[in-house]
Amino acid sequence: MVLNDCVAIITGSGRGIGRAIALELASAGAKVVVNYAGRSDKAEETVELIRSAGGEGLAVQADVSQATDVNRLIQTTIDHYGKINILVNNAGITRDTLLLRMKEADWDAVLATNLKGVFLCTKAVSKGMLKQRSGAIINISSVVGLSGNAGQANYAAAKAGVIGFSKSIAKEFASRGVRVNVVAPGYISTDMTETLPEEVQKEILHSIPLGRIGKPEDVAKVVRFLVSPEASYITGQTVCVDGGMEM
Ligand code: NAP
Repeated sequence: MVLNDCVAIITGSGRGIGRAIALELASAGAKVVVNYAGRSDKAEETVELIRSAGGEGLAVQADVSQATDVNRLIQTTIDHYGKINILVNNAGITRDTLLLRMKEADWDAVLATNLKGVFLCTKAVSKGMLKQRSGAIINISSVVGLSGNAGQANYAAAKAGVIGFSKSIAKEFASRGVRVNVVAPGYISTDMTETLPEEVQKEILHSIPLGRIGKPEDVAKVVRFLVSPEASYITGQTVCVDGGMEM
């Protein structure tokens, strides 16, 4: 139980990759705050899965793009568990379309959740982490943030922004024992990718050297390693979990 006595907040962990991360960290001993935006049923299901495996979890609604919601999320965690050791900024959305058709609202919504949300949550936990001189932050980017992708200019910009933000914060926080790393998934089977047309899914599969679509658990295991003491000499890095897509 490498994360015994740790408290972790995972944004957007009612379903998909976030849920897998919540279950993985809980199975390593962490007390997990399961944040969600609107799907309370899914978040409660995640908490139930954690509890039935003998772990501790709490579902908290908060829109990560809203500062007042984020502050409430952090305060609720402190009130409940007393501290925060781990933050995983996982919440994310897509509004895919080619640039010529992209509305300002598509741009704003994706940047607000996928980039501003990372800023707000990181800032809100950082004071406590710097004071306690320890902490691990993982920001979930995407290989699209490294390579770009037609139809995802807003998403790619946000995910590339997450990498630049994370490296900057890693440099600011390193001397105080707080590590910041990025995990960049490739194509992972979740609600987010399920909506892609079948021919697009087939095309993506051909571009994956390891020859299979990723599972949320593939990402979760890497997150668990990076937040654990075993990764205590790693900060400011971006780890692709993508079956070799990005190499
Ligand atoms: P998903 O299945 O669509 O789940 C998204 C999660 O984010 C949900 O729990 C949702 O909450 C939450 N969320 C959305 N907007 C939010 C907001 N404003 N505030 C708080 N929570 C919010 O997505 P996923 O595929 O697991 O993706 C998770 C992360 O991995 C995202 O950052 C995504 O960009 C990244 N990623 C995914 C893939 C992939 O292939 N799936 C690849 C690369 C990167 P509700 O349940 O309440 O709606």
